Amino acid sequence: MKENKALKLMFFGAPGAGKGTQAEIAAERYSIPTISTGAILREAIAEKTELGKMAAGYVETGALVPDDLIVGIIRERLSEDDCKNGFILDGFPRTLAQARAFEETGIGLSLVIDIEVDDERIVERMSGRRVCAACGATYHTKYNPTADGVHCDECGGELTCRRDDDPEVVRHRLETYHEQTEPLRAFYEEKGILRVVIGQEKLDDTTALTVDAIESYLRGE
Ligand code: AMP
Repeated sequence: MKENKALKLMFFGAPGAGKGTQAEIAAERYSIPTISTGAILREAIAEKTELGKMAAGYVETGALVPDDLIVGIIRERLSEDDCKNGFILDGFPRTLAQARAFEETGIGLSLVIDIEVDDERIVERMSGRRVCAACGATYHTKYNPTADGVHCDECGGELTCRRDDDPEVVRHRLETYHEQTEPLRAFYEEKGILRVVIGQEKLDDTTALTVDAIESYLRGE
């Protein structure tokens, strides 16, 4: 990464488009943290914190958690030291109200990568998605399997299915995405910071396109 150019990156796209996976890869490559509002909420729900209790009903049915709750979480997380040299947002903002509230914080984004994948492929992908119960790493039974298919390659934790990856809930999440989140594409396009990556069958191919998009931004192209 060029010096003095903090990468403030957001991955945009439908649930299951591969934002989380690409965010993990980019976080490692550029040594900046990924902030996933979905992961923060899932952890809070598992630990039954106050936030978790408030969020559970929304997350489990595929609805969006109220904007003010989410904006509060993000504001707090981005004020931590590890975000000073840049960060990657996965799953935030998800509504125009969240995007506007985020603008008001003055933190700003330098680049938005939109990963485009058809709805039918998303439903197929989500049924094969697996998440490590211990460290949260994500895999796919077909597209990104672990070495033995039952344990995490990173930490050896047990692989689980997300409850909201159930096909019925996925359909609701896609509806929510098209209605409430997709309008953000025009919002960031108008700002001139949106780059589109067409999600590929193979993970490595999507990664190559994503890295190209980030590198060309860093070169100032
Ligand atoms: P994700 O892992 O990004 O697909 O998020 C899982 C679930 O967490 C979503 O279906 C929502 O219920 C909730 N969630 C995550 N991020 C947000 C957000 N920015 N705004 C509202 N709800 C969110």
